[in-house]
Amino acid sequence: MKIDIADLYHKYIQHESDLRKGAYIKYDGWFRASSAGQCFKKQAYKMRNYIGEEIDQRVARNFRLGTIVHNDIAEALEGSQYYTEYRVEIPDFKVVGHIDICTMDGDGPDNPPKNGTIVDIKTVHSFKWRKMFGLKKNRDLNPSKNYETQIGTYALGLADKHKLAHVDMSILWYKKDDGSIKSQTVHQKYIAIALEYWAELSEVIEEIKHFEVDVLVAGAEPNVPVYEWECRYCEFSNICDTPFGKG
Ligand code: SF4
Repeated sequence: MKIDIADLYHKYIQHESDLRKGAYIKYDGWFRASSAGQCFKKQAYKMRNYIGEEIDQRVARNFRLGTIVHNDIAEALEGSQYYTEYRVEIPDFKVVGHIDICTMDGDGPDNPPKNGTIVDIKTVHSFKWRKMFGLKKNRDLNPSKNYETQIGTYALGLADKHKLAHVDMSILWYKKDDGSIKSQTVHQKYIAIALEYWAELSEVIEEIKHFEVDVLVAGAEPNVPVYEWECRYCEFSNICDTPFGKG
C-alpha cells in the first residue's frame, strides 16, 4: 500500500496556513505590512478579496520551512525581554503586520520607551544568499528593496504605537541550505520610503474605488507592477492584463 505523505503533508500545511490567516480576519480590507513595496494592482486584488492561483506543493513546503524557523526562534525567545510576533497597525493607511522580534527601552510609566529595535527574520536559499553576500561579481546590482520597506513599515507602526523617537532595524538572514545566519542593518531611510509607498498606494486605491481593478493597466500605470519580475510569481497573473506574465 502506498502512503501519500506528500499529499498528507500538503493538507497539514494548508491547515496551518489557514490558521495563520485567521489572525487577520478582523482586518478585512487592510493591507499586510509584509506586502510592502509590491505592485499596486496586486494590492488592489488582495484587498478586494480576489482569489489568486494556489501555490504548488513544492513552493508551499519551501515556505513552510521559513515558518518553522520563525516559530522555532520565537519559542527560543519565550520568557525573554523580546517580543515576538508583535502586532502593529497603521490605521491611516489600513496596514497591519506582525514584527518577528522587537524590544524597547524604558522601564515603566515614569520612564516610557523612547527607542525601539526591530529584527525581521528572512529565510533564503543559496541563490539569493550569493546575490547578497557572495563574490562582488555575483551580487545583484539592482536588488528589490521590498524587505527593507516592510521593516520600515513595522518601524512606523511601532513608533506610532509607543510614541518612540527612534527605531533601529535589521534583518537576520538565514540560509536554508546550511543554516548560516547573518545580520544586516536596515537604513533609516526605509521608514520614509515605507511611508511614501503606503501613502501613494492609499491614494490610488481611493481613486479607483468606484472602478474595477482592471482600470489599473499593467505596464502603463506607475507601480503596476513595481518590478516586471513580480508578474512571473504573481497569483493574479492569470486574470491580470500584464504583458510580463509567466510566458
Ligand atoms: S500580474 Fe503583475 S501587474 Fe498584474 S497584479 Fe500581478 S504583479 Fe501586478
